Amino acid sequence: MDIRARVGLADPIEAMKHQVDSLLDAAEIFEPPVDIELLASMSRVRRIELLEMAEAGRLVPHEGAYVVHVNQRHPETKQRFTVAHEVGHTFFDAASRSPRGLTDPATGLFDLRNEEEYLCDIGAAHTLLNRRWLEPLAREVRPSLDGLIDLAGTCRASLEATAIQLSQLGLWYCTFAFLEPGLRKAERLAAGQAALPGWGDVAGPVEKLRVRRVYGPPGVPFLPLNKSVPASSQIWRAYDEQTRTEGEELLDLGHSVMRAYTQSIYAPYYDETGTQRHRVIACVVWERGRSGRGPTPRSRP
Ligand SMILES: [Zn+2]
Repeated sequence: MDIRARVGLADPIEAMKHQVDSLLDAAEIFEPPVDIELLASMSRVRRIELLEMAEAGRLVPHEGAYVVHVNQRHPETKQRFTVAHEVGHTFFDAASRSPRGLTDPATGLFDLRNEEEYLCDIGAAHTLLNRRWLEPLAREVRPSLDGLIDLAGTCRASLEATAIQLSQLGLWYCTFAFLEPGLRKAERLAAGQAALPGWGDVAGPVEKLRVRRVYGPPGVPFLPLNKSVPASSQIWRAYDEQTRTEGEELLDLGHSVMRAYTQSIYAPYYDETGTQRHRVIACVVWERGRSGRGPTPRSRP
């Protein structure tokens, strides 16, 4: 059943958030961390089972209700997001007597091409990082990497999910960048050709640390996707030395160069295939956010 019709809201995103808020109210949950097992049990989920599986999660019909399967290899924050996502699916057939079964290869991708999956990711983020507590907590903390890490810990949510929700709140004048080493598309193609027979001794291009995903409120300078950071930067040093760095630096936005205070941490993660990936998470506090003055774009030398 269409959840918009059930809650009487035309906007499907608002309808999903309304469903989550109603469930939190019914469970009397007013602060983090959310008791995700309680919310699941109130949504006809009889059991949550951690299993060896390739997918992130599954919603399995069981005696007129559900069992949720969760990938036991995923970090706890990811597992909580997946359970919240599966709870979101139950909203779509809350009135049905024969629950559907669903398999989720991945959760948290916010894929616009599949409305129900997209709404369940919105619902999961809204469950773990609800504005009711995220907003007052964010007001107490200065925009910073430590602030992000603290809030994610308080809500027992992933750093990336927390960065997304903080950006949507719009209270912090900063950008969160998730960087990974890699090649530009043209270089990847060239590297593929270089691997052909007869080209084996051609030196391949060197991977650079590139912006893979970036989150910030409207109006905040935006780091271009796939842009690499120079080896002289604090962000690079966090990657190169697998450590934590901070300091003032000039960041090239493509059309201008801006001064910012960056805090970066080397934070590897395991991707969907179980492979460990290098990653740096950077909190970029732009000059205006620190001084209260307007942005000071500098032309390129
Ligand atoms: Zn799903």
